[in-house]
Amino acid sequence: MLESGFFAGTRWQSSPDVLERGRNLMSRALPVAGLLLWLLLQSMPVFAHLPNDIKTHPACKYCGMDRKHFAHSRMLVHHKNGQSVGVCSIFCAAKDYLRSLDHSPDWMSVADYNSKKLVDAGKAYWVMGGSKPGVMTNRPKWAFEGKKEALEFIKAHGGELIDFGVAMQASYEDVYEDMRALKQLKQEHNSRMRRRALIVGSAGITPK
Ligand SMILES: [Zn+2]
Repeated sequence: MLESGFFAGTRWQSSPDVLERGRNLMSRALPVAGLLLWLLLQSMPVFAHLPNDIKTHPACKYCGMDRKHFAHSRMLVHHKNGQSVGVCSIFCAAKDYLRSLDHSPDWMSVADYNSKKLVDAGKAYWVMGGSKPGVMTNRPKWAFEGKKEALEFIKAHGGELIDFGVAMQASYEDVYEDMRALKQLKQEHNSRMRRRALIVGSAGITPK
């Protein structure tokens, strides 16, 4: 049986053998075309889709976390000298503020939780708490460009609506609590080491 069709305006006919060879060729060509497309996509700079501040500050200055991964909580601290500092969250922004007390930041921008677009942190609607795990803290804080979106988040995940000042103050407390816990851990570690040295000494064992 012959099959027929049009190719480049010319009527053609082919035998089942020719069609079978054509199908085999296609079945081999398609994966190759797919591979070529995949290679092309791989060679395209992933960077091209990243917001400028993530290109400039890919990692948080204070904890080293990937700001692309935390694009929804990231912040940019703008200093008066025109320089900016990229951080993963308001927790690390508070660290920058504390380190730069003599040259306090001019202003800060924060990612809108949903769109990941940077907005003025002072004008954003902040939500503290809720069921979504926080970034660098047990007390999550998220920013929203619009009040409606913030309230929708609270309805879905809990938390309370606060302003930037309250969010920042809570972050200072979180940083203090973090430093206090770290100090306590160090003290416990040191006293364990001292007790161990005393036990080893009283048993007459020479520590290796
Ligand atoms: Zn950080």
